[in-house]
Amino acid sequence: MSQTEPLVVQVALDVPLPQTFDYLPPDDEALPPVGSRVVVPFGRRTLVGIVLGHEAASTTPSQLKTIERVLDRALVDEDLLALHQWASRYYAYPIGACVSLLLPPALRRPEGFRAPRPQAYQLTDSGRAADVGRAPARAKVLSSLKEGALSTESLTEQGIKTSTLKTLTDLGWIAPCPRPAGEPPTKGPVLNSEQSHALSEISSALGRYQAFLLNGVTGSGKTEVYLQAAQAVLARGQQVLMLVPEIGLSPQLIRRVESRLGVAAVVYHSDVAEGERLRAWQMAKDGEATVVIGTRSAVFLPFASLGLVVVDEEHDGSFKQMDGPRYHARDLAVVRAKHLNIPIVLGSATPSLESINNVNQDRYQTLVLSEQASQAPPPRWRVIDQRGEVDGLSSALLERIDHHLTHGGQVLLYRNRRGFAPVLMCQACGWQADCTRCSAHMTLHQTQQNLQCHHCGSQRPKPNRCPSCEDPNLIALGAGTQRLEEALSQQFPDHPIYRVDRDAMTGRDDFETLLDRVKQGGPCILVGTQMLAKGHHLPKVSLAAVLDVDASLFSGDFRAPEHLGQIVYQVAGRAGRVAMDDGPAGEFILQTRHPEHGLLSSLCTGRYLDFATELLAERQAAGLPPMQSLALVRAEAHQTPPVLAFLEEAQARLRHRGLTVLGPIPSMMPKRSGYWRHQLWVQAATRPELIQGLSEGLSELQALPSAKRVRWHIDVDPVSL
Ligand code: ADP
Ligand code: ZN
Ligand code: ZN
Repeated sequence: MSQTEPLVVQVALDVPLPQTFDYLPPDDEALPPVGSRVVVPFGRRTLVGIVLGHEAASTTPSQLKTIERVLDRALVDEDLLALHQWASRYYAYPIGACVSLLLPPALRRPEGFRAPRPQAYQLTDSGRAADVGRAPARAKVLSSLKEGALSTESLTEQGIKTSTLKTLTDLGWIAPCPRPAGEPPTKGPVLNSEQSHALSEISSALGRYQAFLLNGVTGSGKTEVYLQAAQAVLARGQQVLMLVPEIGLSPQLIRRVESRLGVAAVVYHSDVAEGERLRAWQMAKDGEATVVIGTRSAVFLPFASLGLVVVDEEHDGSFKQMDGPRYHARDLAVVRAKHLNIPIVLGSATPSLESINNVNQDRYQTLVLSEQASQAPPPRWRVIDQRGEVDGLSSALLERIDHHLTHGGQVLLYRNRRGFAPVLMCQACGWQADCTRCSAHMTLHQTQQNLQCHHCGSQRPKPNRCPSCEDPNLIALGAGTQRLEEALSQQFPDHPIYRVDRDAMTGRDDFETLLDRVKQGGPCILVGTQMLAKGHHLPKVSLAAVLDVDASLFSGDFRAPEHLGQIVYQVAGRAGRVAMDDGPAGEFILQTRHPEHGLLSSLCTGRYLDFATELLAERQAAGLPPMQSLALVRAEAHQTPPVLAFLEEAQARLRHRGLTVLGPIPSMMPKRSGYWRHQLWVQAATRPELIQGLSEGLSELQALPSAKRVRWHIDVDPVSL
């Protein structure tokens, strides 16, 4: 471009439009480079944006508005902008989402930010020599820090005020510093031969891209492998990112990482307070954070020198963002590792079909941990027919529970339904309590004496009579965790029953505290939802059971068998021989009203990978992911006609781009929160063709007048229908 041609700045803004916006550079300043954070006028608002590029002005620049302020020059790294650009094209969402994905909340506001509270303080030389005279508060700080740096938390716990810390900092007597690592690293166990093999494969891949699938049941020692691989990365002076599911980010894991590696782990997820998130972001960017543990949003953190990514429980659905930019953090982590030329380890007891397929295609290398570290033999499997039984607990199961408890074992029962009963029904006329806003039954909660919709959150009091026929005989059908807990405490009054679900475990540490008690305690019964199925190794559990699998057997979601298999194998993996001479042998029980169902017989072969291989063949035959790529166009509105009108127009546009489009068909849940929902299935011969067609189609769909009358989005690689 010639020197005289004026330059315009392309700015990404977090607005629901696919393009960037052109602005003139501020008059008196140098051109803000790519990655700068800027404040610009947008309509009547003032927004924070990120500079994505510069271009010679083609139109008369006088029509353009000018950037108001440059907040930080080149704040966002180019490699992250490139990753985001890839994601925004692949997942067909607006590029402007980079503002919310790449910046912590504190940096998305035009007013600039208050520097976060320092993590820790240390004494300066002048502080050491200072004479505090008659100022006990100051003296306390100085004497506390004599032995070395302390975290701000531990200082305030001693009753020291933040204002005192600030005064002393201003005096130059103390200074902020990184949070001190607690203890020196502790030594891990000697690895078994499979773990050693896995570790050496990962270690030899440091410094180049390689994706590994680490497959081993809970307790097989996957975390040990992550930790020792992380040690090798830290020794090279590089950083480690560990992504975990929302439910897996436990204080226990953080403590274990910190004590084994001897560093303060930095935690990043959306519930962390704003100041903490900003600090974590800065520390990762500066290289001060050596180990970052986070949920899916951490995949977009900046790193000074990232050396390894670990994705634990890689099959977990929470890695997929379900609103806004619908990215998959596991898959993006792989893309990021590839861009950065570093290895990535995906760990799971029950890998996703996507990852198994990637192994079969030689894209990922598989590492297997088949021995459980405890050396327990695999549990015996049984299917129990629960037809004609009440309360969700068959007499055969009750007999087995009794056996295990009396022989010193602990029992773990999985039921994916909280509340008392999933259905409240009138015996006289068949009326059922349904949510008025969703196509779903309301769940009866006995403690609150109300009905709750688990999909939209609406609640109403439990009626005393049938609203339809006035009959007083309303019966609760089926059993949620509350009802199971009640029934179990009647059956086993001498043993503790612990319920684990969102209603029972409200405090952040409740679950941890309970797990510690269970680990140290004697025979007991744990009954609970998803929370219970994951992660934690409970060595005294000898009987594990999945109480009701029937809904999954007949689900219309093609992923339901895979999810069922994952739950069943996660739960079955929890049962082992109790480490006592006469401890009961491990046993796993599955209750069903359809014991003859074909899916159950292939599930019960006892090997998850065999089951998964069968499912992959079925997906192949049906032309479904991961063998074929899939995207959905979902739309919803208070009435159906505008939804259908938009989707029909969208279908024509996408077909025009060479894509195969089926639908519109109703969503699995046709009505939710008062919105009627339909979707299109979009496929193409190859993934690049699908992505190409969608990214071209996106702006076209956005321009449709019918698009303004509905809420809609594109979901590439959807995890639920
Ligand atoms: P996973 O992550 O697969 O669930 P962990 O790494 O948490 O497994 O290991 C389960 C338990 O076994 C932990 O208490 C861990 O300290 C222990 N463990 C792991 N590997 C070994 C080993 N090689 N020798 C002895 N104990 C081990
Ligand atoms: Zn009735
Ligand atoms: Zn509802």
